[in-house]
Amino acid sequence: MTSPVFALRPELAALLPYNSGLTLADVSSRCGGKAIAKLGSNESPYRPPEEALRAMEDAIRNTQLYPDPSARDLAEAISRQTGVPAKKVIFGDGSEDLLNVLARAALRPGDEMVTLYPSFPLHEDYAQMMGATVTRVDLTPDRRIDIEALLASVARPVRLVLLANPMSPAGLWLSPEDIDRLLAAQHPECLLCLDEAYVEYALGTDFLPGTDRLSGHDKPLLVLRTFSKAYGLAGLRIGYGLSNCDELLRGMHLVRTPFNVNAVAQAAALAVLRYPGRMQEAVDKTLAERSRVAAVLAGRGLEVLPSKGNFLFVNVVRPAIDVADALIEKGVIVKPWKQAGYEAFLRVSIGLPRENDQFLEALAEVL
Ligand SMILES: *Cc1c(COP(=O)(O)O)cnc(C)c1O
Repeated sequence: MTSPVFALRPELAALLPYNSGLTLADVSSRCGGKAIAKLGSNESPYRPPEEALRAMEDAIRNTQLYPDPSARDLAEAISRQTGVPAKKVIFGDGSEDLLNVLARAALRPGDEMVTLYPSFPLHEDYAQMMGATVTRVDLTPDRRIDIEALLASVARPVRLVLLANPMSPAGLWLSPEDIDRLLAAQHPECLLCLDEAYVEYALGTDFLPGTDRLSGHDKPLLVLRTFSKAYGLAGLRIGYGLSNCDELLRGMHLVRTPFNVNAVAQAAALAVLRYPGRMQEAVDKTLAERSRVAAVLAGRGLEVLPSKGNFLFVNVVRPAIDVADALIEKGVIVKPWKQAGYEAFLRVSIGLPRENDQFLEALAEVL
């Protein structure tokens, strides 16, 4: 079939397709039917509790009806968990959706968006989509977050400073003192967004969730969260944002699609919130495994960045794309980083103990 000529918006010219990682089907033909350790997309290896599966089954019986467009019950549950009023919570079809909604509500052509580098690609892509320019704050030479550069950015009337904390892919995080310095330095015209996709793995020591500072803060702040990681609902697509800024929320509601979170996802999210202990068990197992895997890799002389996520960022000192390719033959999926300056790094998610062993053994063979 011939395809007619069509001119896209010029902002799309520089965009690349999102690297969503390999699926089980992509890999199974290449590794000769071996068990596959899927460690490329930071999913949880643990399923949600049975009670959540039952809540989903109930919701599935009523799919002829539209879902609640404001997910009211869920907003109340998140309000109880975070102390943030339910009216200040907005939902998305994954937090990715909210990143897109944020860009459409906030960014004008020519606006500046500042983000950490190496970056979560969608943070940059949606800004570019709107015609905004992206300023990257790279790690320091000793591979720490350049807090001085970040402070200088938020102190200017930059339209949006968007950073993942903990950071993906690097796993690094801002200390509580750093967060407070950023909030204090923030220019009133600068919108600060903290993408806390990995917050459940980070809570405990040396970490301040942005939600703890929302109520007293007098400059626009948005915190993004997701059910895709620690809660094990990546396949359902549900995330949320919390903000102190009513005007920003109003704009995001205007540009989101009205029924952007399906009823099954809403029911599942409500159910998993009722069993925080189950989520915590999964997180604890992951954290124990993360320490073990990091120690083995460091013991082999590899540079492994400190991480508060469910993943590690590892310098394999050669093109990571080649290493990742060789790992696929051994049934292991990881994410080789492709951004300039970090092509020797791969990001590996922490899976079940046997999956992590499979990765460690395969990596030893490949290197
Ligand atoms: C995984 C991830 C997300 C995406 O979460 P979804 O809710 O599944 O869309 C958002 N931000 C960062 C930094 C992530 O790593």
